[in-house]
Amino acid sequence: LGGTITRAIRQMNNATIVDQKVLNECLNEINRALLNADVRFQLVRDMHNNVKRIVNFDDLAAGHNKRRIIQQAIFNELCNMLDPGKPSFTPQKGKTSVIMFVGLQGSGKTTTCTKYAYYHQRKGWKPALVCADTFRAGAFDQLKQNAIKAKIPFYGSYAESDPVKIAVEGVETFKKENRDLIIVDTSGRHKQEAALFEEMRQVSEATKPDLIVFVMDSSIGQAAFDQALAFKQSVPVGAVIVTKMDGHAKGGGALSAVAATKSPVIFIGTGEHMDEFEVFDVKPFVSRLLGMGDWSGFMDKIHEVVPEDQQPELLRKLSEGNITLRIMYEYLQNIQKMGPIGQVFSMLPGLSSELMPNDQEVESQAKIKRYMTMMDSMTNEELDSPNPKIMNESRSMRVARGSGCDISEVMEMLEEYKRLAKICSKMKGLKIPTRRCDMNT
Ligand code: GDP
Ligand code: MG
Repeated sequence: LGGTITRAIRQMNNATIVDQKVLNECLNEINRALLNADVRFQLVRDMHNNVKRIVNFDDLAAGHNKRRIIQQAIFNELCNMLDPGKPSFTPQKGKTSVIMFVGLQGSGKTTTCTKYAYYHQRKGWKPALVCADTFRAGAFDQLKQNAIKAKIPFYGSYAESDPVKIAVEGVETFKKENRDLIIVDTSGRHKQEAALFEEMRQVSEATKPDLIVFVMDSSIGQAAFDQALAFKQSVPVGAVIVTKMDGHAKGGGALSAVAATKSPVIFIGTGEHMDEFEVFDVKPFVSRLLGMGDWSGFMDKIHEVVPEDQQPELLRKLSEGNITLRIMYEYLQNIQKMGPIGQVFSMLPGLSSELMPNDQEVESQAKIKRYMTMMDSMTNEELDSPNPKIMNESRSMRVARGSGCDISEVMEMLEEYKRLAKICSKMKGLKIPTRRCDMNT
């Protein structure tokens, strides 16, 4: 998939004349790729039509960069589709909120409840977990084990079979204890679907949650829309969490869940462990959907652009995660020698839309050169600090003056630096596939 889209965009970049035909070809390739990423057919069609509407060639003055406009339009359109237009209910620390989790059995509800609680607890909240799943054998034990591990208070029962009763008792108990985040885990599937939805409705009515979170497994494919809609029609779902994003799924179902529930995605699950949980960020997600967030591709690219004799050193620095501006300088130096910056940046997970492959190699090279000129105006302390915050406003102003660049350009370069640092910090612990034999392992 990633290859397809990257190829489609690259083809577009290489075309000397961008016209309606090129746009159509590019859109068709991207449509296929999105369908493969489990994006719903209807949504792909909407995206297609919107982009065609936005990119009006007659309106474009001759001098405009048309390719960039098309790229931007596709990226923005997908971002828009993930934005339901209104934020979800946001709990406030110190005020009691009840959050109920719903979703099919196996979607990751119980795991996600704990992750959600743990995430907030680390930020100083006082969460609590209520197990209202009396259907699945061992459900309470599972929640209990998770809760004990995370040192989070929990409520549940082995004897009571009425989920509504347990939910109400649990919520009441924790309200009295002034817990500020009361999380209610529910049962995923009943003998009959209708009975599940009825039970869910009853728990919801009895506990009056401030927010109902729909938990969805990213690997369910095209079934996402109907599933999300079925839940939304039974209870007022207000947010979505997509799980198992560490697997093969590209997560196109998230677009369906947003469309069906008219609610935003708030977090994603990226593993079985408690801390494998991330705040949902639209742009990196769309990059991934478009196949541009591929690690192995990124590493291959580094191997391509970094000279063999410098590879182990630079790769080691990048993979250690503590990226300084000096390391970025070396990195840019290498890219400058080897090829267009756009191609490398196009491989970066979490790529910004502004840095999608540039059609003008000259332009990219000029940018790298300016970035390096700015860095030449920096002190050793600034270049070697692992803390991006060192570049405060007055230092940035000084660099702008010293390098003859605009302050906005310095800011842009620092943003790029922060992005690289963030990406590399995620690579920490990832095994770097160096091509040389490592004798120590
Ligand atoms: P529930 O039936 O909806 O409560 O789902 P569970 O929380 O019991 O999760 C079902 C399975 O999915 C368990 O084996 C979890 O460890 C696993 N799981 C949940 N979230 C994730 C995730 O983000 N990534 C991965 N790899 N596994 C997950
Ligand atoms: Mg469960």
